[in-house]
Amino acid sequence: MQDFSFYNPTRIEFGAGKIATIGQLVPAKVKVMVLFGGESALRNGTIDEVTTALGDREVQLFGGIEPNPSFETLMEAVQMVREQNIEYLLAVGGGSVIDGTKFVAAAALYEGDAWDILLQGGQNITRALPFGSVLTLPATGSEMNKGSVITRKSLAAKLPFMSEHVYPVFSILDPVKTYTLPTRQIANGVVDAFMHVIEQYLTYPANAPVQDRFAEGLLQTLIEIGPNALAEPEDYQTRASLMWTATLALNGLIGAGVPQDWATHMLGHELTALHGLDHAQTLAIILPEMLRQRKATKLGKLVQYAERVWHIRDGSDDEKAEAAIEHTRNFFESVGVKTRLSDYELGAEHIDAIINSLEAHGMVALGEHGDVTPEHCRQILLASL
Ligand code: NAP
Ligand code: FE
Repeated sequence: MQDFSFYNPTRIEFGAGKIATIGQLVPAKVKVMVLFGGESALRNGTIDEVTTALGDREVQLFGGIEPNPSFETLMEAVQMVREQNIEYLLAVGGGSVIDGTKFVAAAALYEGDAWDILLQGGQNITRALPFGSVLTLPATGSEMNKGSVITRKSLAAKLPFMSEHVYPVFSILDPVKTYTLPTRQIANGVVDAFMHVIEQYLTYPANAPVQDRFAEGLLQTLIEIGPNALAEPEDYQTRASLMWTATLALNGLIGAGVPQDWATHMLGHELTALHGLDHAQTLAIILPEMLRQRKATKLGKLVQYAERVWHIRDGSDDEKAEAAIEHTRNFFESVGVKTRLSDYELGAEHIDAIINSLEAHGMVALGEHGDVTPEHCRQILLASL
């Protein structure tokens, strides 16, 4: 086990009808901005439930935060927050709305050009407005972590930031709120949560057996419940398991004391920024060939993953690793998330621009050893065609 510092202050209120508790969680008399995405939270009545729970507090709505939330839209919210002296934020949505709210919370109190928050990865954040969230899409873990990913459309740049000042104060996890999700978004959620575990597990052995067992348990749970989460949208217990699994996958717990990779995520962000693919779609394309490219340095954990998660017992270490990679690809395909660039009509002619963008964003030493170069990423994309 490596040394670590673990801190997570977010209160979770889990269960059907928990939106009603917001009235006790948000301080009395504060001026609240409720931030949400397109139409879904309005259509399915969630915004009404939230405003009812807020009672007599003054409420300003801010809708229109898009998937892969944009700096441009969020700066409109920042301006409104400042003009109206908003004191508390409430995100209602998936990872995009929660990530976007984290940015608004920090940017509203930031003196200077708010894009610097992204350029410095959040290290320059010294304070932020308090905020809570109502999660409507189990996937990112943003509801219980300090990370956020923001896109600046005019620069085709999608960059992450992290800060202890942007943990949600509380997050409401009501599995019933996921019933209205389109199949594509549930499939994306299963893949994104799976990938978050993989990025913190499939590295090199760190003498952290309890962390390995946590990670393997989360992966196996996703494999077990994924198909039913798609087939039975209103199966409460399955949706409840998916929701909590996705939160546990990226709330800091399983990443404590172990090496972390994140190369697939960083390369994936470039694909979203340049070609608009959903976040999870990019990960499902990149991971199989990332693992193949990194097979030598990841072999010990790949074999463990093969044996414990996929129950692969036969063959040499290399054969087990290969079989595990193919099982992973097949799992993504089985929940309906494609695993080839060609599935999105992207060909070899697009790769140069993706690599140039990766370099421009300084993503030149990725992975748990910092040795995944743009040239490796080029080979990975070529193999993913
Ligand atoms: P999302 O982009 O928040 O939402 C995708 C779509 O789902 C939206 O069109 C939204 O529609 C719809 N939707 C959400 N809840 C719904 C519901 N209950 N019923 C019907 N439709 C619903 O998806 P996400 O996968 O949660 O978030 C992806 C973003 O998170 C990416 O930008 C990714 O890079 C980032 N991310 C962050 C972290 C982190 O740690 N912070 C980790 C991984 C990924 P409406 O707009 O109409 O509501
Ligand atoms: Fe992710």
